[in-house]
Amino acid sequence: MLCGQEVFNHIIREHYPDLHRAFETTFDECRARAVAPAVAERSEYVIPVVLHVVWKNPEENLHDSILLDQIAVLNEDYNRLNADTGNLRALFKPVAGNARVRFEVHEIRRVKTNANFQLNVLTGSLMANLKNSTQGGSDAKDPLRYLNIWICRIQPITILGIPLGQVLGFAFPPNNLPNWPANSGAPALEQDGVVLDFRTVGRNNPNTMPNPSGSGNLIVRGRTGTHEVGHYLGLRHIWGDGGLLGNNDCNQSDGIDDTPFANSQSNFNCDTTRNTCVKVEPFYGVDMPDLVENFMDYSSESCQNMFTQGQVNHMRSVLEGPRKGLVQASAVAQPGSAQSRPLVYPNPVRGQEFWLEVPTSWRPCQFSLYSIDGRLLLERRIEREETSGLPPVRIETSALGSGWHLVRWQQDQRQWTEKVFIYR
Ligand SMILES: [Zn+2]
Repeated sequence: MLCGQEVFNHIIREHYPDLHRAFETTFDECRARAVAPAVAERSEYVIPVVLHVVWKNPEENLHDSILLDQIAVLNEDYNRLNADTGNLRALFKPVAGNARVRFEVHEIRRVKTNANFQLNVLTGSLMANLKNSTQGGSDAKDPLRYLNIWICRIQPITILGIPLGQVLGFAFPPNNLPNWPANSGAPALEQDGVVLDFRTVGRNNPNTMPNPSGSGNLIVRGRTGTHEVGHYLGLRHIWGDGGLLGNNDCNQSDGIDDTPFANSQSNFNCDTTRNTCVKVEPFYGVDMPDLVENFMDYSSESCQNMFTQGQVNHMRSVLEGPRKGLVQASAVAQPGSAQSRPLVYPNPVRGQEFWLEVPTSWRPCQFSLYSIDGRLLLERRIEREETSGLPPVRIETSALGSGWHLVRWQQDQRQWTEKVFIYR
C-alpha cells in the first residue's frame, strides 16, 4: 500500500475513540470560504518545514541534497510547476488546480537511533516512538506552526507474523473534517505531521524501493511526499476509501466535487482506460473515467501530475482553518500589498532556471545573486510595469554552481536578503 491511511483510520477508530482535541477549530469555518478567488488573485501560502531524519543504518541518514530535492518536488507539485503537467489528459485540463503553497525548510534535525518503527494494527501502534526523543525518535517542533516530516525506515506491517505490506508513508489530516471519518486526526498533537520511508524521499536518492504492485517500477519521484502532504492538508484518496480495503463502492466520495467517482485504487500503474464507476458525475454532467493522474490515487508516480481545483480549494480552506497556524506569517502578505516581498521560486532550485515574483511595491528594484562567500554572480534591474499582470522574471542558472547562494533585493533604503539552494 502506498500510504497507511486505511490502516490508520482503522487504528484510530478502534483505539482512540475519544480524541478530539488536537484540532478544535471546526470545519464550518472552512466551508464558509469554499468559494475561492481566481488563482491569480490568491496569495501564496508558505509552510515552514522541520525535517527529522531518524536513522539507524548510514544509508538512512539522507544527504541534505536529497532532503532538499524532496522539498523541490513539493514546491513543483503544489505550484503546478512540475515538468509532467503536459501528460494530463485533455478532458481533465480544465479542472487542474494550482495550490500556490510553498514549502521552506526551517530546520533539519538528525537523530541516530537503535529503535525500530512499525505500524501495528493489533496494538494500535502509530509509531509514536518515532516522534518521542525518549524512545529513540525526534520530538516534533510546534506542530501548530511547522509541518514536521519524519524520515525513517518503516518496517513492513505484519499481523501475527504474516507480512501485510510495506507502508511508504503516512500522515494525519486535521481532526473532524467533514470529508473524513470522525477522529481521523493525530492521536496527540505532538504526533501530527507526515512520516516518509527514507527510500521514497527525493529524486536523487540512491536508496530505492520497488513499486508495491511488483510491476518493476521503482519509487523514485518523491511523490509519496506530495501524496502524504495532501492527506495532511485534508485530502482523501480519490476513490473515497470504501471499506478497509477500499474496493467496490461507487457511492463512497472523497468529499471533492471534481474528482470523478472511483470504486478502488489504481494498482500503481497508469491505466487511462480505467472507469470503475459508470455513472453521471454531478460536477461534469457526464460519466468520466477515473482520474489516474491525480496525486491522491495509487497510480504510478510517473502517472501522477495534478491536483484538481476542488482539492486545491479544500487544502487552502484547511490552511485558512484548522491549519492556519502554519501560514500565519505568510498569509499577511497579499500580492501587491505593501507588506508583500519579492519571492524566489522554486527554492531549492533544480534545473536551468528559477523565477522572481516581484510585487508592485518592490518595483523598481535591484536583484543581486551572490555565492555564499560573497562573490557577486549576477545582477538584474527589475523595472516598474504599468500593466497589472506583473509576470515573473526568469533567471537562467546554467552558469551557476551547486550549493547555497544569497539573493538580495535592494530598493531605495530597504533591502531583503534570503538564501537559495541551487543544485544539479
Ligand atoms: Zn494515501
